[in-house]
Amino acid sequence: MQTQYYHVNRETPDTGVLTQAARILQQGGLVAFPTETVYGLGANGLDAQAVAGIYQAKGRPSDNPLILHIADRCELDRLARSVPANAEVLIKKFWPGPLTLVLERTACVPDAVTGGLDTVAIRMPNSAVARELIRLAGVPLAAPSANTSGRPSPTTAQAVLADLSGRIDAILDAGPSNIGVESTVIDCTTPVPTLLRPGGVTLEMLLDVLGEVEVDPALSSGKTVPRSPGMKYTHYAPRAPLLLLEGDSRTLVSRLSQEISTAMAAGKKVGAVVSRETAAKLPLEVIAAIYGSQGCPAEIAANLYGALRYFDEHPVDVIYAEGISESGLGLAVMNRLRKASGYQIIKV
Ligand code: AMP
Ligand code: MG
Repeated sequence: MQTQYYHVNRETPDTGVLTQAARILQQGGLVAFPTETVYGLGANGLDAQAVAGIYQAKGRPSDNPLILHIADRCELDRLARSVPANAEVLIKKFWPGPLTLVLERTACVPDAVTGGLDTVAIRMPNSAVARELIRLAGVPLAAPSANTSGRPSPTTAQAVLADLSGRIDAILDAGPSNIGVESTVIDCTTPVPTLLRPGGVTLEMLLDVLGEVEVDPALSSGKTVPRSPGMKYTHYAPRAPLLLLEGDSRTLVSRLSQEISTAMAAGKKVGAVVSRETAAKLPLEVIAAIYGSQGCPAEIAANLYGALRYFDEHPVDVIYAEGISESGLGLAVMNRLRKASGYQIIKV
């Protein structure tokens, strides 16, 4: 299949182009589209066969459920059996935006979307292109990140095409996603809402609004069986093995230099996913993908997946990544880096 490519303006998207894309979705096709978090791979979320196409195109395990994307609050009521008071509070504060709510599902939601769970994950994106596309399609769109399963999520249309060209019907290009990491997933079916995946809406922002939030233990250990099925799979991995350095920022850079020297002495070609400040201190032979400046987690989140994908074109034998503080968006960045490393972590 030939993937149709359309450029769209992110503020005032061309209705003609979006109508064509919406028609593809109504006919059961797959359309990759921009959101403020990462690019999504959309299908009609009420059509089990269309949803099956997503799993096939991505090579995604079928028990890893999808998020339904909606454009209006009123669409929620046909998908969720009830909307608890704390979910209402979150919706008022953070929708449209990078927050996904897990709620009890209605019979309207196909098993293909939920992986057979009795809950469903729902989000209203902030991107004007995404919302207009959903509105024109007239159905909720099931949309995981538009990458081959296990690879870093795409934050540009070019990254989508690198993975899925020829496997999907169309792509809408509206330039880079500005947040750069996926939405926060919060389970609102527990008495105290439970954070299942850190993302664009930070834990601090959630605590500020809710007062109390449980954090899924799988987030800190990486060993416990997670409640969010997707969290058990290898994710976000670049093509070369990645080792993550975590801990005190003062000792981290000297340890990183040491590790890199040892690897180079063993004849390895070394890559580094690091801050601008750290890159300046590394040997010239190291291929550095800079993710931003130290102390700027929003910049680092926005550039993280691009930095991991940089090594697709610049192959190396091993990649070292510089960990950052877990405050604010740093929690989502560290969650993705730990997974990208397959939990190969060097604590300093
Ligand atoms: P992705 O769309 O690839 O960014 O992944 C969606 C995330 O939402 C995965 O981590 C899923 O496990 C999670 N998710 C989707 N539906 C549910 C659900 N009903 N309960 C818990 N987690 C869910
Ligand atoms: Mg994904």
